[in-house]
Amino acid sequence: MTTSVNELIVAQPSQSCDVELAKGPWEFDAVPGYGPGASELDVIPEPVTRPGQLPAAYQRMADDELHARIRAAKEALGDRLVILGHFYQRDEVVQYADFVGDSFQLANAALTKPDADTIVFCGVHFMAETADILARPEQHVILPNLAAGCSMADMADEDSVEDCWEQLMELYGETAADGRASVIPVTYMNSSAALKAFCGRHGGIVCTSSNAATVLEWAFERGQRVLFFPDQHLGRNTAKAMGVSVDDMPMWNPRKPLGGNTEADLDKAQVILWHGFCSVHKRFTVAQIEKARAEHPGVKVIVHPESPMPVVDAADASGSTDAIRKFVIASQPGDTIAIGTEINMVNRLAAEFPDRTIFCLDPVVCPCSTMYRIHPGYLAWTLDQLVEGEVVNEIVVADDVARDAKVALERMLAALPK
Ligand code: SF4
Repeated sequence: MTTSVNELIVAQPSQSCDVELAKGPWEFDAVPGYGPGASELDVIPEPVTRPGQLPAAYQRMADDELHARIRAAKEALGDRLVILGHFYQRDEVVQYADFVGDSFQLANAALTKPDADTIVFCGVHFMAETADILARPEQHVILPNLAAGCSMADMADEDSVEDCWEQLMELYGETAADGRASVIPVTYMNSSAALKAFCGRHGGIVCTSSNAATVLEWAFERGQRVLFFPDQHLGRNTAKAMGVSVDDMPMWNPRKPLGGNTEADLDKAQVILWHGFCSVHKRFTVAQIEKARAEHPGVKVIVHPESPMPVVDAADASGSTDAIRKFVIASQPGDTIAIGTEINMVNRLAAEFPDRTIFCLDPVVCPCSTMYRIHPGYLAWTLDQLVEGEVVNEIVVADDVARDAKVALERMLAALPK
């Protein structure tokens, strides 16, 4: 077994973005905000998270006992239970996952377990919502710690997007002179169910980091311009690679009238980018790439498209978590690969391919601090409760929201090449 990120934080506190991360998340879940490890520059909407509710007995329990309880509960629940682990989840938890993948792969993987009446999603809130939208009505979806949100998803709340939409509709109306829609809303999978539903209601669509270009093509065919949220970087990097000028991609700041733009900016816009970002991926810099190249001649650099545009431009390749994994699989023994994505995933790839040198571009150990809140204590508690017949921390998307969100998800699936 490799050294877990938690062990690295404890062993090398000077190389961690925040040593507080090694504490039990129940110690900071009660305080509103993203907690340790989050970027201090994050715009924090209020309230962003809900306090965790872990019984004191589980907070005090020794690691060995927590793990013994998880194993025993898994055994007792058998095929009635499916545990999903995101690529970025900590090793102490992901070892129990029946499937490991990105958020959309996982929501679909759960569908392959028809006997499971409970899906435990070891990811973040929007992922559990997507699983609930796609799950059968009688299946329960559990997020072990309700405080595991996503800072990026929280940067586009429903009210701000509705407000932006009203301003755009006032300027352009629903339909342009050429008969296309004046604006097509496109939301990244990393958004609340409410925003997926918003897209469903307004002729819009969902995208993932794997299919953003195909989805944008779909949207350009149907609309004069695209409103892309919440991640500005994925929108900008994808549209730029498709030939859209960065000058035609104004940013929408929800705190300013017209998003801080002039009417002329919006008139010529092809993609209006929401002012959102991922705290993990915006840590990657061109200087880190230059350092990796200086220290490891011949290194191949691949970064996630949630990274800033200059970083994507300077890398040898960019792609989703799945594409990064495939890039490593396609590499040769002896290759050196520097990766710009979350540290748990990079460490796991390094352990899986010991005949290659694989390292994270960011020398500082900084996991996704919100996903990190799924501690084995929360997993043990939720599973013990299930064995007792109690469903705790259930994520339920309201029927009308799920119906509209499904429309936007189905448009995405229909847009993909068969
Ligand atoms: S890595 Fe970034 S986008 Fe993904 S869950 Fe964490 S904060 Fe959200």
